[in-house]
Amino acid sequence: MTVENEPAVKYKRVLLKISGEALMGDQGYGLHPPTVARIAREVKTVHDMGVEICMVIGGGNIFRGLAGSAQGMERTTADYMGMLATVMNALGMQAQLEALDIHTRVISAIPMDQVCEPYIRRRAVRHLEKKRICIFAAGTGNPYFTTDTAATLRANEMNCEAIFKGTKVDGVYDKDPKKFDDAKRYDTVSYDEVLQKNLGVMDASAIALARDNNLPIIVFSLDEPGGFRGILAGQGTYTRVQG
Ligand code: UDP
Repeated sequence: MTVENEPAVKYKRVLLKISGEALMGDQGYGLHPPTVARIAREVKTVHDMGVEICMVIGGGNIFRGLAGSAQGMERTTADYMGMLATVMNALGMQAQLEALDIHTRVISAIPMDQVCEPYIRRRAVRHLEKKRICIFAAGTGNPYFTTDTAATLRANEMNCEAIFKGTKVDGVYDKDPKKFDDAKRYDTVSYDEVLQKNLGVMDASAIALARDNNLPIIVFSLDEPGGFRGILAGQGTYTRVQG
């Protein structure tokens, strides 16, 4: 049944992936609470549609393993610092979602019981069935990976129908639309083309994992008010990465 004026929902369960940098606003570092609150309100509009929502948030606004190792730190240690950064971001988002009365669980790939839940797949599925938002933190729990790969892994494990990758632009372009006026946006693009042309949607291991499991990736602008909800209802501008 469709409620009047309520767009038909095309998805039952999705995973929203955002980079840590999306949370820092204009301050260039860390968490900017009003920006986190704005994104939480966007997520709420989709939650209100009855869609089950998983989230993965990066950590690049606080620490990236590669940057640490470039400065002489052991790569694995630097990556663990990056993973811990994602937990901080997840807690920041949980606080804003709960301020909107949405039950939210932070679920970490690295157990830290006093802070959040450990990752137990069946328990996470149950949370989703109860319409709680699950924010998967600490990436995959392994160094040498990124949160894009963690997002693809969790989306597969949770049987999500698609990954929604919220970015600063409204899709995937053949060249940087902020630098080139003649950049063209793809409506759809194949996993293989993304890999061959190095289109920078996600890192190669994340794209390959999505391809091998036929998991669509929808790239859209998180800066567009109402954009996330619109796409869930089949409207708006975005690129769909598919087989
Ligand atoms: N990371 C990791 N394993 C994972 C996920 C993340 O080691 O499974 C570390 C890695 O150092 C990475 C950092 O966490 O640089 C932050 O994640 P990411 O760079 O993906 O964040 P984003 O670019 O999305 O903000």
